[in-house]
Amino acid sequence: MIKFSGYQYILFGAYTSKTNFSSIADFRKEVAEKFKKIPFERKAVQNMIKEMIESQPIKDEIGQSEARQILLAQDLKRIINSINNYKISNHRKMLEEHFKLIRKNLEKFSLESEAEMFIVNNFPTPFDTMEWDAAFFEETEKEAFNISPGIYIKEDKIIPYFSTYRLSHELIHTIIGSSGENVLTGLARGFEDGICDVFGSLYLFSGVGGYKMAESTIIQDRFGYWPNRQFPELYRENLIQGLLFYKEFGLDGIVELIRRGRKFIKEVETKIINGDINIKNMKGGYWDENLTKVSNKLLMYPKSLVCSPLARYIAGLIKPGINITKMIKDNNLNLKDTKNAIKELQERLFLIVLNKNKNEIEYDDTKLYVNSGALRYELYPNF
Ligand SMILES: [Zn+2]
Repeated sequence: MIKFSGYQYILFGAYTSKTNFSSIADFRKEVAEKFKKIPFERKAVQNMIKEMIESQPIKDEIGQSEARQILLAQDLKRIINSINNYKISNHRKMLEEHFKLIRKNLEKFSLESEAEMFIVNNFPTPFDTMEWDAAFFEETEKEAFNISPGIYIKEDKIIPYFSTYRLSHELIHTIIGSSGENVLTGLARGFEDGICDVFGSLYLFSGVGGYKMAESTIIQDRFGYWPNRQFPELYRENLIQGLLFYKEFGLDGIVELIRRGRKFIKEVETKIINGDINIKNMKGGYWDENLTKVSNKLLMYPKSLVCSPLARYIAGLIKPGINITKMIKDNNLNLKDTKNAIKELQERLFLIVLNKNKNEIEYDDTKLYVNSGALRYELYPNF
C-alpha cells in the first residue's frame, strides 16, 4: 500500500508558490511529520495549514522565534492560495496525462521520445536504495542490469505538478541518450542537465503548468539556500550554463544540441566551461518571449540574499534616520535579538550601516530587496 498523504499535497502548494523562506528542504522538514498523518485531500490540508497559522499566539514581544512564526504564517497563506488555484484529483492519472501532453509538445520541434514511463514502488536493483524521486535508464542499464529503458517515477514521492516538472527534465535526457552518432557516450549530467532544465523543466513544463508555475518551481528546486550542499549547486550552475546558451542560440540552438546527442553536448561543454561559445556551424534562432523573461529572472536571481527571520522582519521596519531604541519600543521587539539582527544586516549582508553613535540607521538598502521579495529568511538559521 502506497503511503500517500497530505505531505505531497502541501509540497505541491509550496513548489508552486513564491515564498520568502529560502530552502524547500527546510520547509519539508518543518511540515513532514504533521502532514504525513493526514490524507491527500485539499480540505484536510487547508485545515492543517490554518491550524499551523493560528496555533501559537504571538507574544507581545517579537524576538527571533516570533518573527519566524509571523513569516512562516505569511508563506503558509501564499501556499493556501496556490493550493486553491489548482484542482488536484488522481495523482497517477494526472501524471500520465501530463506525460502525453509534454510528448505532444515535442512534436513542433520534430523531436520524439520512445521512452515509457513507469510509476513504481521501488527503483529496480541495484538502484533500489537511492533516495531519488525520478530516474531514467537507458540501453546500457538493460545490458548491465536487465532494466527496461524508460523514465521511472517513485509513486510515494509523487508531488502533483512537481513530478511533471521532473518528468519533463528526464524526458529530454532520454531523447539526448538516443540521438546523434555514438549514442551512449559518457554520463547524463553536467551541461546536459542544464539543457534538460531549460528545454524540459522550463519550456515543456510551462506548456502544462504555465510560466508562473515553472518559475516558482525551478526557484524552489534550484535556488534554495543550503550552505554546504554541493550537489544542488552543481545543478544550478548547469542551469545557468543552459540559460546562457539559450540567450545566445535560442530554442533552435538547444534543440540542435538535443538532436545531436550526448557526445556533441560533451564537446560543446568542453568549450563553454572555458568561456568559448563560438560553436562551429551553430546558427541558432527562435527566442520564446516568456522563456526569455524567466531566463533573465533566473540569471539575475540573488540566491544568497538570505538572513535570519528577525533580520528579515526588521528589514521591513527600518528606514534611514530611524532611532533603534524607538523602533524596538514602537514595534514591541526583543532588545537582545533585535541588536543581533541589526548586526547581522550590517555585517552578514552589508545592507545597512549604523551611524557613528550606533543608535540610528545611516544607510539602508533593505527596501529594494524587501519590496522585490529577493530578501529571504532561513527557517533554521545558520548565523
Ligand atoms: Zn538530469
